[in-house]
Parts: sequence; structure tokens; C-alpha cells
Amino acid sequence: MTRFAFDIHATDGRARTGRITMKRGEIRTPAFMPVGTAATVKAMKPQDVRATGADIILGNTYHLMLRPGAERVARLGGLHKFMNWDRPILTDSGGYQVMSLSDLRKITEEGVTFASHLDGSRHLLTPERSMEIQRLLGSDIVMAFDECPKIDQGRDVIARSMEMSMRWAKRSREGFDAGGDHAERAALFGIQQGALDEDLRRSSAQALTEIGFDGYAIGGLAVGEGQEAMFATLEFAPGQLPADRPRYLMGVGKPDDLVGAVERGVDMFDCVLPTRSGRNGQAFTWNGPVNMRNARHAEDTAALDDRCPCPTCQTYSRAYLHHLIKSGEMLGAMLLTEHNLTFYQQLMQAMRDAIMEERFAAFARSFRAGYQRSG
Ligand SMILES: [Zn+2]
Repeated sequence: MTRFAFDIHATDGRARTGRITMKRGEIRTPAFMPVGTAATVKAMKPQDVRATGADIILGNTYHLMLRPGAERVARLGGLHKFMNWDRPILTDSGGYQVMSLSDLRKITEEGVTFASHLDGSRHLLTPERSMEIQRLLGSDIVMAFDECPKIDQGRDVIARSMEMSMRWAKRSREGFDAGGDHAERAALFGIQQGALDEDLRRSSAQALTEIGFDGYAIGGLAVGEGQEAMFATLEFAPGQLPADRPRYLMGVGKPDDLVGAVERGVDMFDCVLPTRSGRNGQAFTWNGPVNMRNARHAEDTAALDDRCPCPTCQTYSRAYLHHLIKSGEMLGAMLLTEHNLTFYQQLMQAMRDAIMEERFAAFARSFRAGYQRSG
């Protein structure tokens, strides 16, 4: 059976639709991956995540290495068995979250020493250890270990960081390849860095392509640069990566970010937005985000979104959802998360259909005309 294959079924402009085939299942692209940080997509059972249309979820190395620990997950049969999700899982390398969440970080050529945000315990994360952790978890798509520098630093800092990430990418490749059985069923993605700089992005893409990966991520975006700067970078970054491999834009994004990025040639996404927003009372619809805390919903008997097939919209009124969210009830978080993940998967399906039928430009125009970014 195929370890990893990517077939492009149709292109429309720079947008592509196709399918990744792996041993644990197929991933339809463009794909949105719900984030299952701590071995759970928050507020959702795995079968309900699947019912939204998700083909793959993401797990976070940083969180899982600290709690419950990669060795413990391995002893319990791996992440899939532990959390009862039998389809593909992509794990990040831990690099980004070490930078954003931990204390007392020290970055050297060897790796990153840091203190856990949970108990202050000291840890060293290197490319080799990141590959080992992702192997112990049983990840299907393993991400290379990289540094994601703050976007507002000088070009020299960004360049030095990118060059170190490329050396780490090579060490990641070697660490992954030494992983025995796991390397024969999992895939490894490299991560392009270089912030908003076209030349640095090109150098990074060349370095990664020489090493050779199953897929290529665009890292270092969605870190506060804003949509305009992100789209400007996506004018060149995806085209610098191999056309026959999947391109994954990490940490993106809002529904209109997804449409603009697919338009520019991106195949895969992950973001905490639909799940986190659901817990905070924000619902996504084709007309834009809706704040369910707003008093205007208090006696509204209509569905949250009458175009949505999810159980929340099929069963409950806006008035009830408003009440649950206002009361801080767990069910409110569960129902809005289920709706938001369904909306994201419906959006991805609509984009896949539009590309297949060569009407993506018209789809994107119509989407933007109907979607109010602030709600
Ligand atoms: Zn819904």
C-alpha cells in the first residue's frame, strides 16, 4: 500500500484540488486540519470531528511531550489508539510552540532548551528529539524542526534563523529516516522560512528541495503580519516550492484567508480559530462571523445558519445557543465548535468543487461579496 502519494485532479489558475493517499486514509485537498492540541479536538469526540468532514487532524508535539509524555503515549499504543482517531494525524515539530509558550528559552545550533509552562521542568528539543517524539506518537505526517523568528526582526536575523532552520531540516530528514518502521509508513514535510522576503524564501525552498521532502510547508506566516502582507508573500512563496508536492500554510486561518491562499496555490491548512472561536461564542457563516453573545439573538428562533447541515443548525435555535454561551454552559462550546468545524469543511468542499469545475475565480468573488469580515 502507498506510503504517501499526492495526485492533483484539477487546477484552476494557481488553485489545485487533489488527494493525498496514505496508509491510514485519504486526504482531500485543499484540506483543513482541525487542531487536536492535547490529543483532543477540544469539545469534540473523534467520530464527530470525522462527521464534520475532516480527513486529518493535527497534534502538538510541545503539549504532548510535556503531558502525558511521548514515551507514555507510545507505551499506550500510540496517539491514534490513545485518542481513538484512526485516520491520518499530522504533528507539528514543537518548534513554534516552544517559542510562543515556554519560559527561559535558549536557542543554540544544537536546539532549544526551555522550561515547561506547566511545571517549570527543563527540556531540550532538538531536530533529532523532535523526530523521535513524533515517531513515538505515531504521527502520519511529521514536520521538520524549525525556528519561527518574530516577523518584525531585521533581515540579517531572519536570514540567520532561516539558514539554521535549513540545517535543522537536514538533521530532521536524517533523524526521520533513522526511524525504522515508522519511516516506512509516515511522511516528512519540510518548512520554508524567510518571513516576507522573496529571496530568503527562494533560498529556503532550494535548500529544502535539495534535501527532499514528501510535502512542503510555508512557515513563519500568520504571526501578526496581517492579511495583506501574507497574501503578498503567497504571491511568490508557493511557486518556489515543488509543484508536484502538497503545500501547507501553517496556522491559517480565517475563512477569507483560506480562500485567498487556495487562490495562490496552497493545499493544506490548520488553525485553532474554528475551535477556539466556538468556545468563545463566535460562529462562522457564509455571511461572516456571528457573535452569539449578542443580545439580538436572545429571542431568535431561527437556526444559526440555515445553509448548514450540522446537527447544531439542524436542531437548535439561535436563542438557545445564545443562552448556553451567556451561561457558560459546556454544551454551548460543544455545539458551536461542531458548527464551526462543519462550516470550515463545507468551505473546503465548496473550493474543491469550484476548482474541479474550473469556476474558482467566480466562487471566490461570490464568497467575498457575501462574507463580512467583522461580525
Ligand atoms: Zn451548523
